Amino acid sequence: MTAPRHGANRSSRIAGFHRKTPAERRDLVAAFAGLDDAAVAHLANMGNLPEQLADKMIENVIATMNVPIGVAINLRIDDEEVMVPMATEESSVVAAVCNAARQNYDTGFTTSVSGTLMIAQVQAVDVPDPYAARLRLLGKRDEIKRICDACDPLLLKIGGGFQDMEARVLDTLGGPMLITHLIVDTRDAMGANAVNTMAEKIAPHIADWSGGRVFLRILSNLADRRLARAQATWKLDEIGGTSVRDGIISAYHFAEADPYRAATHNKGIMNGISAVVLATGNDTRAVEAGAHAYAARDGRYSSLTRYEINANGDLSGSIELPLAVGLIGGATKIHPTAQTCLKILGVTTAERLARIIAAVGLAQNFSALKALATTGIQAGHMGLHAQNIAIMAGAMGDEIDTVAKILVERKTVRIDAAQDLLSELRRSSVPLQNRTITELQKGETK
Ligand code: NAD
Repeated sequence: MTAPRHGANRSSRIAGFHRKTPAERRDLVAAFAGLDDAAVAHLANMGNLPEQLADKMIENVIATMNVPIGVAINLRIDDEEVMVPMATEESSVVAAVCNAARQNYDTGFTTSVSGTLMIAQVQAVDVPDPYAARLRLLGKRDEIKRICDACDPLLLKIGGGFQDMEARVLDTLGGPMLITHLIVDTRDAMGANAVNTMAEKIAPHIADWSGGRVFLRILSNLADRRLARAQATWKLDEIGGTSVRDGIISAYHFAEADPYRAATHNKGIMNGISAVVLATGNDTRAVEAGAHAYAARDGRYSSLTRYEINANGDLSGSIELPLAVGLIGGATKIHPTAQTCLKILGVTTAERLARIIAAVGLAQNFSALKALATTGIQAGHMGLHAQNIAIMAGAMGDEIDTVAKILVERKTVRIDAAQDLLSELRRSSVPLQNRTITELQKGETK
């Protein structure tokens, strides 16, 4: 069966779909979407994530999505040499980190964390006397600690567990709400499941003590008790002098003052951060939500990094953001690629992982600002972007590099130009590898 099976079955209402095997699901999807055998075979190739494992990780599995992992080098973090695996589909992200780290390799990055505390929220509504109820709850701290810690004896044994609580009366569109925060040390776990379990366990007691009704019981991704920080200095002669330094500082001032710029500035930071978070099987959405919420903590969305001139006239950069990442739980422990990436990083604690990720975010940002303040971002992007355009135009093997190089040289990195060039090259009988780039650029075919 090789012909496309266009719309043989166009119903998306399929009873028991989740109970089928991945192969059975692929057949149903193929019938729905008219996929041919080659497309189904492509989906069936699960790469280095075994199908049985993928099928346990999420629901209704039919395939996996491969994203390249590149390794950032030149990094010296807290006087340790580090190689950082980064999973990303975006060109220039890995190169940007390597470049930034090369320019401060001698001094490297200094990092720290505020701790590994997560916050779980319990929402109580219709509390008759919310301010008095708040004090009643705070008075139950020891009992709350006992109930929470009983949820996770293992966490307690390794030095984690309930640390503190807060209670806030929140003025909302639906009237006052009493919000309780459980502050829990989740050690080497990101901690979502650990704190959610505690929040659910404590909820009936909070309803009882407050006299209200409890609805939501879930962690906050604004993990501001779990901040990671990194600082680095770039010497003037390494970065190209005062003009480059001042351009970077001015770019930071722009992002600090303007949410339109800050959104892109922080997106660049997350290019680096999310790539390491993904490579280690951590939750990219949790980290991104936390980062952006933290960037708006003062009521105005702003930059996650800062740049200053130090006493020697060099450029000093720093970053601080919530980084709820773990080595236990979620995909970190079960995804074989994540496990190998953690081995490459050589991390044995979630704290160390968070510190490395913060340094990567700062490095990424430095490179982006330097490029923006000098040559512009496109010069660096174009080489790799041109390769993607060449692939999109149908180039294969050696053709990819050749087409990309010519597109960059001609300053026509466009899909139509790539298609024309490819046809031109293929019309010639002389193999690509036997022609010089100059000949190809001139359109000479020998
Ligand atoms: P988990 O519950 O699988 O593992 C954590 C548990 O492992 C701890 O509770 C503890 O009992 C045990 N443990 C063993 N050794 C430990 C150590 N050294 N340090 C800490 N704990 C240790 O994992 P988790 O981190 O609670 O959950 C992470 C998952 O939750 C992620 O996949 C995330 O995507 C998901 N999640 C996220 C959200 C959110 O971000 N809003 C919500 C729900 C679920």
